[in-house]
Amino acid sequence: MNDCLFCKIISGELPAYIVYEDELVLGFLDIQPVNPGHVLIAPKVHFADMLDIDEKYLCAIGEAIPKVARKVLEAVGAKDFNVGVNNGELAGQLIPHLHFHIMPRFEGDGHQLFKGKEVSSNDLRDLAAKL
Ligand code: ZN
Repeated sequence: MNDCLFCKIISGELPAYIVYEDELVLGFLDIQPVNPGHVLIAPKVHFADMLDIDEKYLCAIGEAIPKVARKVLEAVGAKDFNVGVNNGELAGQLIPHLHFHIMPRFEGDGHQLFKGKEVSSNDLRDLAAKL
């Protein structure tokens, strides 16, 4: 996709702070980090989201995440991190090229996780039956 920001980073057309690269995956610093060391891991081929991606690339991302996370944690002096994927516009996906976030966490960093909602066991049972 010619107009995709991440495809342009992957092709070298746009600059990025690249921190990881293998045959299938590129890792680079998020320019609007939630914390220092916030890295994006993206497939080198354009896939819109988790429903679109080729399994081979997803496996490569799964292998890259712990490798990159170990380096990030050491570099920024953190021991914990979140891995996140925003899948689609309502989920907060800003760039429509699948990417995983590695976000180091620090005591009192103010980064909020979503809270679960109360739900009845009947609703859980009904939903589980649909799945
Ligand atoms: Zn793309």
